Amino acid sequence: MRLVVLASGSSGNAALIESGGRAVLLDVGLSARETLRRVAASGAGDARIEAILLTHEHVDHVRGARVLARRLGIPVMATAGTLRAAAACLSDVPETIAVGRRDRFSVAGMKVTSFATAHDAAESAGFAFESRRGHRVAVATDTGVVTPEVADALAGAHAIGLESNHDLRMLDAGPYPPFLKRRIAGERGHLSNDDAAAALAALAWAGLAHVFALHLSEQNNTPDAARVALARSLNGGGTALETVGRNEIMGCSL
Ligand SMILES: [Zn+2]
Ligand SMILES: [Zn+2]
Repeated sequence: MRLVVLASGSSGNAALIESGGRAVLLDVGLSARETLRRVAASGAGDARIEAILLTHEHVDHVRGARVLARRLGIPVMATAGTLRAAAACLSDVPETIAVGRRDRFSVAGMKVTSFATAHDAAESAGFAFESRRGHRVAVATDTGVVTPEVADALAGAHAIGLESNHDLRMLDAGPYPPFLKRRIAGERGHLSNDDAAAALAALAWAGLAHVFALHLSEQNNTPDAARVALARSLNGGGTALETVGRNEIMGCSL
C-alpha cells in the first residue's frame, strides 16, 4: 500500500492512495495534466486510478477533478453536500457517487471510512483507507479542530497525513486582515501546528510509520515550525515525519 502526496497547500491538494496496483485520487486541486505528471513522477504511474474522492468543494481541492474524471472515465465520489456545492465544476463527469460523512464503502479494492471534518464548506469530510493486508492510511486536512470523530478515524493508522496549517504566533503577527485571521484560526478553519501536535500525541503508536504534515501556509508557517511542533509529539520514536511543500511530491510504502 502506498500514500503519495502529490501537492499540498492552498495552491492545490492531491494525494494518491494505492494498493495492489489499484488507486484512488484524494482531491484533485491541480490541473488534470499536472496531476498526471506528478503521478508519473512519483513512480506510481503504473497504478490504475479507479476513482476521485473529494474532501470538499474548495478550489484548491477540486480544480482538475472534472477534466481528470472525464479523461480517465472514472467516477467522482464525495458527500452529497460537496457534490452539490461543486456541481458547477463537475458537469459532464462520467458518474458522481454520494457517500456519507460517517460511512464505510469500498473503492479500488480498499475499505474506506469517512469522517466529518470541521471546515467552512458545505459538508466536508476526511477519509481513512484500509488495504486487504490490513495496512491503514488516513488523511485529515481542512479542519479547524480535531474532533473526537476525526481522532477516532486516524487512530491505528500506519501512515497519517495531518494538516499543520499555521503557527498561531505567525498568524497573529502576520499581515492578514482580522476577519481572515479569525476564519483561519476558527473551529471551521484550518488546524494550527499546536493543535496538530496535540492530536498527534494521542495518535502515536508503535505501528505509526509515517506522518506527513500537510496544507502548510506559505504566509503563516514554516516547515521547521511545523516539524518542531509535531516531532515533540512523536517523542523520537520510530515514526518518520515529513512536511510537504507546495511543489513537493512525497510518499511512503507500507
Ligand atoms: Zn484546502
Ligand atoms: Zn478548504
